[in-house]
Amino acid sequence: MAKTIEEKQYLLRYNADPKSHLTILDHNKCATQCEGQICTIFCPGEVYKWEGDRMFVGYEGCHECGSCRIGCPNDNIKWEYPKGGHGVVFRLA
Ligand code: SF4
Ligand code: SF4
Repeated sequence: MAKTIEEKQYLLRYNADPKSHLTILDHNKCATQCEGQICTIFCPGEVYKWEGDRMFVGYEGCHECGSCRIGCPNDNIKWEYPKGGHGVVFRLA
């Protein structure tokens, strides 16, 4: 039987880089120019958490799907691949 998305996510493993590969360039733009802080909705890894007036970035859980490079309406996320050997590890079911 086909696996659900949630079941597939359990197959992901991470080798986190000590340094984030994701940077919010301007937290003020998130507060004033982005209704609903949509990266908190479209990111499948639930990397972005909006708390108070600041965006917290749990980069360790990034799936490296690249959606935030095109999904942020303010071009406000600097996105790079993690250093070689770091980041998400996909396993086949
Ligand atoms: S989508 Fe972009 S502008 Fe909106 S909250 Fe996220 S990082 Fe900020
Ligand atoms: S690349 Fe994908 S998983 Fe990683 S932070 Fe962006 S939207 Fe989330």
